[in-house]
Amino acid sequence: MKNCDLIVIGGGIGGSALGAVMAKAGKSVLLLEASTKYEDRVRGEWIAPWGVTETRRLGLYDLLVKAGGHHLARHVTYDETRDPAESEARTMPLAIFAPDVPGPLCIGHPHHCQTLFGEAARSGVEALRGVRVTRITPGAAPSVAYEHNGAMHEAKAKLLIGADGRMSAAREAAGIKLHQDKPHHWFAGLLIEGAAGWADDLQAIGTEGDFGFLAFPQGKGKVRVYGGYALDQRKRFSGDDGARRFLDAFRMKSSPNNEALAAANPAGPLFSYFNNDSWTDRPFGEGIVLVGDAAGWNDPIVGLGLSITYRDVRVVTDILKASADWSERAFAPYAEERTERMRRLRFAAMLQAGLDMEFGDEARERRRRYHEAAAADPTLGMHGFAVMGGPEMAPAEIFTDAHRIRVLGA
Ligand SMILES: Cc1cc2nc3c(=O)[nH]c(=O)nc-3n(C[C@H](O)[C@H](O)[C@H](O)COP(=O)(O)OP(=O)(O)OC[C@H]3O[C@@H](n4cnc5c(N)ncnc54)[C@H](O)[C@@H]3O)c2cc1C
Repeated sequence: MKNCDLIVIGGGIGGSALGAVMAKAGKSVLLLEASTKYEDRVRGEWIAPWGVTETRRLGLYDLLVKAGGHHLARHVTYDETRDPAESEARTMPLAIFAPDVPGPLCIGHPHHCQTLFGEAARSGVEALRGVRVTRITPGAAPSVAYEHNGAMHEAKAKLLIGADGRMSAAREAAGIKLHQDKPHHWFAGLLIEGAAGWADDLQAIGTEGDFGFLAFPQGKGKVRVYGGYALDQRKRFSGDDGARRFLDAFRMKSSPNNEALAAANPAGPLFSYFNNDSWTDRPFGEGIVLVGDAAGWNDPIVGLGLSITYRDVRVVTDILKASADWSERAFAPYAEERTERMRRLRFAAMLQAGLDMEFGDEARERRRRYHEAAAADPTLGMHGFAVMGGPEMAPAEIFTDAHRIRVLGA
């Protein structure tokens, strides 16, 4: 039986990053990844400025930039209740949210995963692909059984790390309960190419009629676009011409530049998910710690899953490097910090979804009131600072019912 310091289940963003950092710290790491090739599953490609700071603290930022990471510099919020020129007059610079960070960083998700997996292997991790994990045993003597290249193996470790995403088998094996709130809206995503006329450094969001859009350039004419729509329109973009109908929905009077997005070509699959939020009270148990989506995910409407995952990896690896005590007690500060972080980000996402991803007369009027009031009183948009600059950047009173009422109404 193989014996190592850490066994990491799942070699996506969180698992590969954690493996690389701990191997560089001199620990023996076995990384088990189910897939043989990273595919476009329509996942996170935008890292918030505070997430970029986390990549720096982990020593991974230069790697991501060398791999083609692309910074964005400006943000515009369009809305059907105002003129495009008025929206563009309020263009927000994106270098203001974190020290020495020029703006959010974009990098394609499959390429991002491969880059980190390669870094983990180069750093000394035993990194395996095409693995079928058949048993996960946390507890006083943590171990894993898995099939690889047609042979069964067993390995034991001082600690298991569950980094196996939303449907985490590690979470289930540890008996850690996942709380989930109700789905709020459908959210579809598509990578497009040939978006001539859309500035490479400009991200934008906007709502018009029964559709809310988001656009994040990836460099070289590629843009990751998302669209949100009501829960009762489940089949809206299904069928062979779904991607074309999806791009047609981007044509908006309130954001005429969207024509560049609508006229571009699909460069990947169109997938729809329902957006909701989830969390765990205590993302660890005896002999096991969860990171990333496995520990609970934030509503993707605010695009923070990667930043959350990098923060998890940074906090957990700091604990692992600080002492030989890897008992449950050592991870209590991780649970405490993550609980408050996810509470705040859940709140920010709830406000953002309530503003941008609700449709009809009442929602339109709410947005009109909000944009008008926020122009006069920037504190109204402080939850947005938490999204860009990090959950601790906004004061505690922003995450209260009183602020919710100021933003969404009673
Ligand atoms: C539509 C959508 C849009 C999003 N947009 C953004 C965005 O713009 N910005 C952002 O920050 N976040 C975004 N996110 C969230 C982000 O993609 C995730 O939070 C992030 O990928 C989590 O990383 P992870 O490593 O925890 O999990 P994952 O990326 O899901 O990786 C888990 C890995 O574990 C492997 N695995 C699973 N089960 C097993 C097993 N039993 N054994 C071995 N391996 C296993 C999988 O193959 C995978 O490689 C978005 C999410 C969605 C759904």
